[in-house]
Amino acid sequence: MEKPHFLDHDLSSYRQLFKEWGLPAYRADQVSQWVYKAGVHDPEQMSNLSRELRQELFLKFDWSLPEILSRLDSQDGSSKLLLKSKKGHVIESVILRYDGRTSLCVSSQVGCKLACDFCQTGKLGFVRNLSRHEILSQFYLANQLLKAEGLRVTHVVFMGMGEPLDNYDNAVAAANVMMAEDGFFLSARHVTLSSSGLAPQIEKLITDCRAALALSLHAARDDLRTELMPINRRYDLARLKEALLKYQKETGRKITIEYILIKGKNCGLREAKDLVRFLHGLRTKVNLIPFNAHPGMPYERPSDEEIRTFQKYLADRSIPAPVRYSKGLDVSGACGQLAAKHAEQIHAKPERKRVVASTVQAAILTENS
Ligand code: SAH
Ligand code: SF4
Repeated sequence: MEKPHFLDHDLSSYRQLFKEWGLPAYRADQVSQWVYKAGVHDPEQMSNLSRELRQELFLKFDWSLPEILSRLDSQDGSSKLLLKSKKGHVIESVILRYDGRTSLCVSSQVGCKLACDFCQTGKLGFVRNLSRHEILSQFYLANQLLKAEGLRVTHVVFMGMGEPLDNYDNAVAAANVMMAEDGFFLSARHVTLSSSGLAPQIEKLITDCRAALALSLHAARDDLRTELMPINRRYDLARLKEALLKYQKETGRKITIEYILIKGKNCGLREAKDLVRFLHGLRTKVNLIPFNAHPGMPYERPSDEEIRTFQKYLADRSIPAPVRYSKGLDVSGACGQLAAKHAEQIHAKPERKRVVASTVQAAILTENS
C-alpha cells in the first residue's frame, strides 16, 4: 500500500491518523507545526520528537517532494520551475516577484481537457489530474527556494496548467490548506482559483472554499466564446452569468474577469459592447491581457492603439480595466505558454524517463542561450 504523503494531511487528519496508530494527539500537533509553520519535512529535523518517533514517522509517511528539473529565471524577476512528479510527468509553476509580494502560479493538472483554441496547454490535451499533495508541493518547494532570498509566497494563483475546477476536490482541498490557520495561513483574498467557466462547480465553491475567483471570459457573445472556448457549448454565457450572480449574492466577493485581447477577434467595438452588457449587474475587476503569441497559433496581439480604444470604451462606462502584461515571457512562463515547449515530457512514459530528462536539459540550454 502507498504511504500517506505528508502534504495529504492537515492538523485534524494528522490527529486522526496518530490516534489510529496509538500515538498521543499532541504529537500530531507538533508534526503539523513542523510541516506547515516551519517548512520542515524531514522527520530527522523535528527536534522536539523522540528518536524512536522520528524513525517511526520516517517510515510511515511519504516525505518526498517532486524533483526540480530546472529553474529558469526571467529578466523580469519571475522564475519558472519545471518539476518532475514521482510518476514522471512534468509539472510547471512560476514564481512572480513584485515589490512587497511574491506570487506563485500553480498547475492543477498535467494538460487540460477543455481545449481552448488560444491556449498551449489546451493543445496538449489532458494527461491527468494532480493530487492534492502535488499541488501543495509546488507551494512547498517555491517557499524553500524563496527562503534563501528572504522571501516567501504571499499570493497563489491557480493559473498554471489545467483547469482547477475540473480537478475540483484536489484543487479546492489544496487551496483550503493554503488558507487554513493551521495550514499555510495565507489570506483568502490572496489565493485565486481561475476557471474557464464550469458553472456548477462555481456554484459549489460558495460553500466549499473562501478563495477568490477569477473567470476567464475572453468573449461575451456565445458564438465567439464557443469558437475560442469549447466549454461554452456546455455552459453558455447565460448559464455562466447565472452562476456568477449566485456566487456573488452568496459570498459578496468581487469576481476578477480575465479578458485576453486577440487581434481582430475579440477586441472591437462590438465585443466591447458585449462585454459591458455581460458585466451588468456583477461586481467585477476586469483585467485585460494582451494575447501572448506563440508559434503555430493563428492568433496575434492587437496594437497598443486597439488595446487603448477597447479599454477606453470600458472606462467611459465606469469599468476600469487595467492592462496586465504577462510576466516570464522570455522563459515561456507566461499564461498559455506553460509546458507547451515540453509537450514531449508532459506525455512522458516512465520508460522514456532518461530521454525526457535530457530533452528538458536541452530545452533549457537553448532557452538560456
Ligand atoms: N484553466 C484556467 C486556469 C489556467 S489558464 C483558466 O482557463 O482560467 C490561466 C489563464 O491564462 C487563463 O485566463 C487563460 O485564458 C490564459 N491564457 C491562456 N493562453 C493564453 C495566451 N496565449 N495569452 C494570454 N493568456 C492566456
Ligand atoms: Fe484549459 Fe485554461 Fe488553457 Fe482553457 S485556458 S485550455 S481551461 S488551461
